[in-house]
Amino acid sequence: MELQREVLSAEILHPAHDFQPTPSRVEVRWDPLLGYSSRIVAGAHFLPPSDFDLAGLAEQTRDSCFFCAPRVEQVTPKFPPSLGADGRIRRGQALLFPNIQAYALYASVAVYSPELHYLRLEQFTPRLLGDALAAQVEFCRLATAHDPTAAWVSINANHMLPSGSSLFHPHLQGAVDPYPTTMQRLLAEVPPGRFEDYLETERRAGVRYLGRIGMAEWLASFAPVGFLELRALVPGVTSPEQLSAEQVAELAEGISRALQVYADLGYQSFNFVLCGAPSDRQGYMLNLRMVSRSNLQPLYRSDVAYFERLHWQAMVDTTPEELAERARPRFAA
Ligand SMILES: [Zn+2]
Repeated sequence: MELQREVLSAEILHPAHDFQPTPSRVEVRWDPLLGYSSRIVAGAHFLPPSDFDLAGLAEQTRDSCFFCAPRVEQVTPKFPPSLGADGRIRRGQALLFPNIQAYALYASVAVYSPELHYLRLEQFTPRLLGDALAAQVEFCRLATAHDPTAAWVSINANHMLPSGSSLFHPHLQGAVDPYPTTMQRLLAEVPPGRFEDYLETERRAGVRYLGRIGMAEWLASFAPVGFLELRALVPGVTSPEQLSAEQVAELAEGISRALQVYADLGYQSFNFVLCGAPSDRQGYMLNLRMVSRSNLQPLYRSDVAYFERLHWQAMVDTTPEELAERARPRFAA
């Protein structure tokens, strides 16, 4: 597979260089799976780290939080017996219940723990992530067994307000639906063999490849959809409900390392999507994508501008190769 990229270069008379001719560059890349384009303005510093008082905001929001113990038991919904869950699903400290707002036909929320209202990225242990992920996988298994028409499954995260999370308390969301999201449909239409080809190309190139944790192969995205995008591909698995307990733990280990990388680089907000396709799709690989989001601070710059929202094209400031270099020590066995 050939990875397509091109550096566009023009000239400006730069005020900082006495209006002398200075090159002005932007790199365009095309995603090897879907063909969308992405732009990289290396070194632009679009999203500065922040010293915003997150701990202070945690205290302000704690008393009214729906996901904190003991209130979570009274104010969150339960599943009906028909789903097969005993009202709610518990794994370790994680607690899963139906989403009170139906984002999908079957929609769930799992808090990592009702006791953990404030969780910094460096505090996401593989155990905390693994238990919440295992609860979501169990929910997905029950929902797909209950309703075979709901074959489109994803497990998702918004962490902190800039990521779209309306509640401060850290949580994961599951969705089981008869219809794919736009991205799920596009990924499911990728011709058989292209996922393997992409992975093989990146393994060989090495510069963006981070390594393997169990079955999951980790890399920095060649053409990112957002800031600091990291991806994991899980060969042999098509949809989240097929994940074994061991594979869940392995994915959680990788996510925990990726969040450490974000914390190392000064970020505290992220999204991820673990994107499944119907279990009979040949050649599809369960894939996880995660991006860091703007830090919370007054007069912050959104990481979503007209490029991302309306052109469907990211404009990021870190090259995937530089990201991989920063992330690699965290992924070293
Ligand atoms: Zn809370």
